[in-house]
Amino acid sequence: MPNRVILLALAGALALSAGCAVNPVTGDEELMFFPPEDDVKLGRQYAGPIEKELGGRIADENLQRYVNDVGQKMARVCHQPDISYHFTAVEDKMINAFALPGGYVFITRGLLKEMKTEGQLASVLAHEVGHVVARDTMAALSRQLSMAALVVGAHVSGAPGRVTRAADFMTAMLSLQYSRDDEREADMTGLSYMTGAGYDTNSMVEMMQAIDELQTVRPIEFFSTHPNPESRITYIKEKIATRYCGLGTLKRGQQEYEEAVLSKLKRHRNVNAATLDLPEAVPDPAGTPEKTGP
Ligand SMILES: [Zn+2]
Repeated sequence: MPNRVILLALAGALALSAGCAVNPVTGDEELMFFPPEDDVKLGRQYAGPIEKELGGRIADENLQRYVNDVGQKMARVCHQPDISYHFTAVEDKMINAFALPGGYVFITRGLLKEMKTEGQLASVLAHEVGHVVARDTMAALSRQLSMAALVVGAHVSGAPGRVTRAADFMTAMLSLQYSRDDEREADMTGLSYMTGAGYDTNSMVEMMQAIDELQTVRPIEFFSTHPNPESRITYIKEKIATRYCGLGTLKRGQQEYEEAVLSKLKRHRNVNAATLDLPEAVPDPAGTPEKTGP
């Protein structure tokens, strides 16, 4: 099924309300077909299946609690603290983080193991919360739908069916492109959330440098919709210099991250390998998302 048809079907499951909405972060008006209550509805509906698509939860509740606690610090200081946010670490080995509308944020094992500090984790979760608050997925969906309606509207007879397969939905979601402006804005709001939660903003620069280095080893497709790390490093450093300098010592949390995440990931992998005598992970034949990221 072409992505645009899936998107139309998805829209059919929600109450469309044509018009514009004000982005709560930027204050700009943007094309928006969905009332805010659809965000949580959509997120809740697809969070479970998408978690499965991403290999399921990492089976370590202490690690999950730690990741969620860091995320909740961002949620408390964000522009929209009244919705309930969920931060889940998933087994997927690809380097990725992903936010569903309505506050469902996923981060992969592949990305967690490339991080070195709690601040770096905070920077990625803060960026994703920025996407949620700005309703970037819903805005991208609205932009796509206005095109999709023109392109395939005539071929869809009757009421569109419900999208039930997470794989279809993932494919459709991943065909959505956040704009470069959305990404830059999520970096900027991310910086402000990090600072509000007491984290050193340089952690975001470190994260971008790590991604940049990883990209020289192999291309990271997840980040293909984002501005390249080099230009992100430049504008993030500029922002820090003008807006966040002289804040004193803020948290980096290297030891905490080592204990709460890195040591657990190693132990978890070893335990699995020893008890199950299986390869570390079985590739998902349905494929995993490849075109989004923090
Ligand atoms: Zn992003």
